[in-house]
Amino acid sequence: MQSLWDDHEAKQYPSALAQCAYTSRLLGRNRSLVMHGGGNTSVKIAVQNILGETEDILYVKGSGWNLATIEEAGFAPVRMKHLLGLATLETLSDTQMAIELKSNMTNAAAPAPSVEAILHAILPYRYVNHTHADAVIAVTNNANGREHIQSIYGDQVVVIPYVMPGFQLARLCYERFPQEAGPNTIGMVLMNHGIFSFADDAQTAYERMIDLVSQAERYLEQHQAWHIAYPDVAPPDQPLRQDLAALRRDISQAADHPMIMITHSDQQCLSFAQRDDVAEIAQQGPATPDHVIRTKRLPLVGRDVAAFCTSYERYFQEHASHAAQPLTMLDPAPRVLLDPEWGMATVGRTVKDATTANDIYRHTIKIILQSTALGGYQALPPASLFEVEYWDLEQAKLRRHGSPPMFAGEIALVTGAASGIGKACVETLLAQGAAVVGLDIDAAITEMLDRPDFLGIVCDVANPTALEQALEQTVRAFGGLDMLVLNAGIFPPGCPIAQLPLDDWQRVMRINLDANLVLMREAHPLLKLAPRGGRVVLICSKNVPAPGPGASAYSASKAALTQLGRVAALEWGKDHIRVNMVHPNAVFDTAIWTDEVLRNRAAHYGLTVEAYKTNNILQVEVTSRQVADLVAAMCSPLFAATTGAQLPIDGGNERVI
Ligand code: ZN
Repeated sequence: MQSLWDDHEAKQYPSALAQCAYTSRLLGRNRSLVMHGGGNTSVKIAVQNILGETEDILYVKGSGWNLATIEEAGFAPVRMKHLLGLATLETLSDTQMAIELKSNMTNAAAPAPSVEAILHAILPYRYVNHTHADAVIAVTNNANGREHIQSIYGDQVVVIPYVMPGFQLARLCYERFPQEAGPNTIGMVLMNHGIFSFADDAQTAYERMIDLVSQAERYLEQHQAWHIAYPDVAPPDQPLRQDLAALRRDISQAADHPMIMITHSDQQCLSFAQRDDVAEIAQQGPATPDHVIRTKRLPLVGRDVAAFCTSYERYFQEHASHAAQPLTMLDPAPRVLLDPEWGMATVGRTVKDATTANDIYRHTIKIILQSTALGGYQALPPASLFEVEYWDLEQAKLRRHGSPPMFAGEIALVTGAASGIGKACVETLLAQGAAVVGLDIDAAITEMLDRPDFLGIVCDVANPTALEQALEQTVRAFGGLDMLVLNAGIFPPGCPIAQLPLDDWQRVMRINLDANLVLMREAHPLLKLAPRGGRVVLICSKNVPAPGPGASAYSASKAALTQLGRVAALEWGKDHIRVNMVHPNAVFDTAIWTDEVLRNRAAHYGLTVEAYKTNNILQVEVTSRQVADLVAAMCSPLFAATTGAQLPIDGGNERVI
């Protein structure tokens, strides 16, 4: 492991607290040291208060801050005197500890202090760093972990057996550390949990962390347990979407909420899932107990969701009966799945949650394989993991997200998504919590939005194979399909019937009609598996109820599309799929309506552009955003009892009314 310390960079962080922020970021930048909140840092500073008195203050990482990006404001200032006093108590409940920490801060606006604040306070060094370093975990989570740690570090570290983090851990260290620390002590190993390093200056404390972790890495290397080669295995090329969507439906039902499920079929995940001993080595438990809230204690090996849930319920009942307070069971659905056919899938209520489970489990796989090579991976017993899984302080991390948005855990596919109404639908559905796949023939779709809950696919909707591939990609990316917004279409230049070439007519039909038939047909088995019922919205046109001369192909294609949607509504109601149509008109903020086209059309009617745009009964402009909001509403529970409906969104049109 390389030190990232840079003298030049470090000079930009002159104060003691700034130095702590700097080394925290260096630690946070290394994913094999710190992942998703697994680590904290502190510095002790003498500060003069407003009365001129000097107080020793512990600046400890505040909850909600990430080490990789922490700033000085991310540290909570807590009075040392009180923290040292708390360490002498025999017991301290979580609630009382949280109150004590918060009410002894010198800045009420600072974030809540880390739950390890007392532990940081009792270590008699100015700078203290704590990480859940992968290499150290690979050694401690081992049948002979204690001996291995002893051979690596000798008297450089104090070794603390596993106890529950928080007050219990602080209390144990308070008793043990002074007795076991010696002149050579530069760190502390917490079995099955992580490692501390400390010193009186920031650089030394940081370099000691790098040095201690490097020693563990070298030890693994000496024991042929460092380099893990993932054998070459062929990724699945057969369609998986039906099986994956069915699995996601089962998981969502078990969770009682739609869930995102991301499939990972790379070498690491596939080769791990295909190992003969996977059922054994993947069923020991997580690398560190804090992972339990992201990955659950165990992954599901295979596809039997019901059996997984039964076993989770049994685990809950067995351990909840020993808890001090009555507990409510969390949803029993798995968060990590291993399957020899497609590798790994990770599950969450949002794409972010499923991605976090992926990040964590990839590290877990490596740790399991390293520790297996070192003689045998061994996680904590279920009772210890249960304690952390149902620890209020861990659950609070999950609650911080608040109540989920309308479409949380759901997946929408929008065609013609790179501009106009399609793009607005993408943005509205994302804003309401859905993961969205956007199809467009324009290559700009792949770069349209840089966020993990959006996937842009270049796709010619007139190509049936491309549509099938897009559905396959959708399901592998997010797990299934709940909502389908059929928006792609073309509006050819005006042409009277008497002069309309058959080729032009057929081209419009291919894109505006045939493509939607194919996509609806291929999407139907997936929509049928949508946990809350599938929804299809067809973007049709005012031209359906009120056609215009010169637009026969367009009007006929949209009328046929409307009829297709109505028949689908009839056929698919039994599958809990709702199909509705919107008829927008005069939506001028789309790619078709360039300034020039607008000027010409307005002039044609003898109107100004402004008057032309609002030439409807309500005299309002209709925007793509309004159409998108209506589409989202039609997908929402507001329209739960509506199917086969046609809704105009045109500012009111005499011919339609
Ligand atoms: Zn920790």
